[in-house]
Amino acid sequence: MNEALGVRALHVLQTVFGYPEFRGQQAEIVSLVANGNDALVLMPTGGGKSLCYQLPALLRDGCGIVISPLIALMQDQVDALAELGVRAAFLNSTLTFNQTVQTERALRMGELDLLYVAPERLLTSHCLELLEASKIALFAIDEAHCVSQWGHDFRPEYMQLSVLHERFPAIPRIALTATADTQTRAEIIERLQLEQAQQFISSFDRPNIRYQIIEKENIKNQLLDFIRSEHAGDAGIVYCLSRKKVEETAEFLNENGINALPYHAGMENPIRSRHQSRFLREEGLVMVATIAFGMGIDKPDVRFVAHLDLPKSMEGYYQETGRAGRDGMPANAWMVYGLQDVVQQRRMIDESDADEMFKRVQSAKLDAMLGLCETLTCRRVRLLDYFGQQSTPCSNCDTCLHPPVSYDATEDVQKLLSTIYRAGQRFGAVHILEVLRGSDTEKIRQWRHQELSTYGIGSDKSDQEWRAILRQVIAQGLVDIDHESYGALKLTAASRPVLKGEATIALRRYQKSVKQKRVVARSAGFVETDLSSVQQAVFERLRWWRVETAREHNVPAYVIFHDATLREIAKAMPPSVEDLRFISGVGEKKLQSYGAQIIELITAI
Ligand code: ADP
Ligand code: ZN
Repeated sequence: MNEALGVRALHVLQTVFGYPEFRGQQAEIVSLVANGNDALVLMPTGGGKSLCYQLPALLRDGCGIVISPLIALMQDQVDALAELGVRAAFLNSTLTFNQTVQTERALRMGELDLLYVAPERLLTSHCLELLEASKIALFAIDEAHCVSQWGHDFRPEYMQLSVLHERFPAIPRIALTATADTQTRAEIIERLQLEQAQQFISSFDRPNIRYQIIEKENIKNQLLDFIRSEHAGDAGIVYCLSRKKVEETAEFLNENGINALPYHAGMENPIRSRHQSRFLREEGLVMVATIAFGMGIDKPDVRFVAHLDLPKSMEGYYQETGRAGRDGMPANAWMVYGLQDVVQQRRMIDESDADEMFKRVQSAKLDAMLGLCETLTCRRVRLLDYFGQQSTPCSNCDTCLHPPVSYDATEDVQKLLSTIYRAGQRFGAVHILEVLRGSDTEKIRQWRHQELSTYGIGSDKSDQEWRAILRQVIAQGLVDIDHESYGALKLTAASRPVLKGEATIALRRYQKSVKQKRVVARSAGFVETDLSSVQQAVFERLRWWRVETAREHNVPAYVIFHDATLREIAKAMPPSVEDLRFISGVGEKKLQSYGAQIIELITAI
């Protein structure tokens, strides 16, 4: 690489952004793009993608144009850059006519370093002409997976972004996404005509996220326990499948003293954006949402993501949980999961109007997700393996920390399978388990199922235990749920050898969920989190100062400084403004703006 350029890049990184060094592949990407070449960047959430285009835009002549579908976030992005002393603006439908005219003028006059543009705006002939009349440093296509028709973030305008290549062949383009699969990657290259782009594919591991998947019992209380014991006062996201459940859960949390806001597509737009903006700006809010919430949410200090319903795919699970811990500090991805999830998801696939091919794909995706839930081995290994990345057990997921016990479940499974068979393969889970456990219900009497030879042979186990067995048997494909006959359980061909005693089967033994301690484990990639009591007091003070300052500037708190930066300051207690310069996250502009205040605050303690 061009050495002078490398030195300049590092200088800008340190003085403008306040970071001592590049992370991962950032240095290579920055110099490649700064040199005028195209790049495709696949990096997990929190990996540091923004720097990959912001920095080259500062190194090159002209303005960097950032295309992003996330209009609601542009103001915060621009504010955050302004805090760094970078001249940034945006063009989207929220601006008044006058604001638009001013921004366009600034671009033409070469007064901008970065300009965020919504794709539909960019594609207008007015905007394309404006760009032709201006000096452009580069095009960054953020959330590039939006070109993919298969993904759930598809944006038709993204398909037309190849126009950039056609009209501005000499200007470098960088496309960025956190979506990992190879099909999406191929689509991005083809649709955006990025055949010449160098590809940068980072590890998709998020070592600071702890994965936990536990048995569903009493969902609301489990959630409350989890938040109270591990995340009191933290910001987090709780995902639910339905709007109704979102509303109910948010209400329940509020009643129990946890500040929560609902968010789903059925809410009116102004309320939704108000909730989103409060979540970004205030500290310690819990957002209860459907998956309509979250794309591009770059709040760095989301400490947990909780799933109350099973995501449809590993892609979804990875993307949603990825919103936790972007700042690299310990975070939790926590999910409750039960038999009902399997039944519900299978039904949604069966009942959708999609063609057979699509249903089969969905079904395979669900199976992979079930595999993750039922695995006896490291969850992270499984997750990364799905994205084509090999790894070793992580010590930071529930199966690593509390290894599940497997046992020879052949006999239990035989009992279950033969009950389904003897009852005529016409009944759903509830009834089958009642027969197995020897309950006395009207339905059993009505069908005279107390006369079946398997009646009561499973009375040694609780309903929960049998549900766990049934769930695993469904996940392993021995039993199917037939939604055309109201969720009746049916045996598949794969169940035969087990019934006949020709195959054995190992299952995960049901364990009542264990209470976890607050996340403290620190493996590779973790930021030191322990503070002495004095340091903790300084940190709390800094946080208070930050809340005030953020309010004055009308920006989210993290735009002023990240938690990680405040922690480092609290630990180092720099005696002078000059020493503050060495803290990661403190650049020249912030040093000027806040240095004196911070030193005063620290020395006053
Ligand atoms: P992404 O867009 O990939 O999700 P961001 O660009 O938002 O990630 O970066 C994630 C976080 O990491 C941000 O808070 C950012 O300030 C921080 N970051 C990025 N690059 C560096 C670096 N070289 N050193 C320290 N922190 C960094
Ligand atoms: Zn693990």
